[in-house]
Amino acid sequence: MRVSEIFEAKKSKGKPILSFEIFPPKKEEALKNIDATLERLCDLHPDFISVTFGAGGSTADNRTVEIAKKIKNNYGVEPIVHLTCLHYGKEEINEILTQLKEAEIENILALRGDVNPNVPMKHDFKYANELVEFIKSQGDFHISGACYPETHLEAVDAITDIHNLKKKVDAGASHLISQLFFDNEAFYRFYEKTRIAGINVPVEAGIMPVTNKAQIERMVNTCGASLPRKFERILHKYEENKEALFDAGMAYAINQIVDLIANDVEGIHIFTMNNPKVAGRICDGIKNLI
Ligand code: FAD
Repeated sequence: MRVSEIFEAKKSKGKPILSFEIFPPKKEEALKNIDATLERLCDLHPDFISVTFGAGGSTADNRTVEIAKKIKNNYGVEPIVHLTCLHYGKEEINEILTQLKEAEIENILALRGDVNPNVPMKHDFKYANELVEFIKSQGDFHISGACYPETHLEAVDAITDIHNLKKKVDAGASHLISQLFFDNEAFYRFYEKTRIAGINVPVEAGIMPVTNKAQIERMVNTCGASLPRKFERILHKYEENKEALFDAGMAYAINQIVDLIANDVEGIHIFTMNNPKVAGRICDGIKNLI
């Protein structure tokens, strides 16, 4: 089923989409546990699960398609396969598209990806809108794109970033998933700008439930999300108490989601970090809202 059909079905019930994101584990050992993780995540009945894709390295090493197939065939949940393009040429992307067609996987999140300094760049694609256009020309896929409520770190400025986002949507991205953020007001301001710019596709809000301080510091450095003062106070107060930080992090994420749903957000995308306990706590906190 296409993500657009899932959106239509949820919209007719007046409910937002709830989706999860997972990553293919790098270590063989963790890969063996992926079935147990998927089973627990799928038991929570997300509308779809997206699977991240490495930026660089051989496509054969990338376990994304393999895991997406498990999600679809073993658990009956719709997968979205992420694809990045700075380190892959048209031939390699086509190889993956063929695998997706064979597996009847219809949904792709088309991304530029980040530069991996250890892997040579390919030069078929420079920006995600070019990948969207290419995928469109190769088959009948539903294509999603990424967006940045607090502006992409490399963007010239916020307005240029929105204009570039419009190029991605005009090329065929019919659904957007946002970068994580901790300040809902930033998301509302961004959403309004997308509508002013004529971007009319659904935008899912990316939520990262906090489980430890180091994780947040890493995230904030790599994606530039701002930290509201009340959030900083939680990190500071509970940084030495793992269990308390977990409770506070889940409560903060649930609060964010309740506010987003009250403001008619079209979808909530939870970066689960492959942790069913996190996803379970969040789902339990919002079970009558979704
Ligand atoms: P683009 O949309 O290409 O934008 C990148 C920059 O270029 C922006 O500054 C934009 O303003 C500018 N730009 C865009 N188009 C043009 C144009 N036509 N002309 C000039 N400038 C332009 N990374 C991974 O490696 N694997 C993943 O699985 C993954 N999943 C992600 C999931 C989500 C929900 C998000 C939000 C990000 C994800 N990322 C992933 C990270 C992503 O690859 C990086 O943020 C990357 O730096 C940008 O990718 P993009 O597709 O948004 O790029």
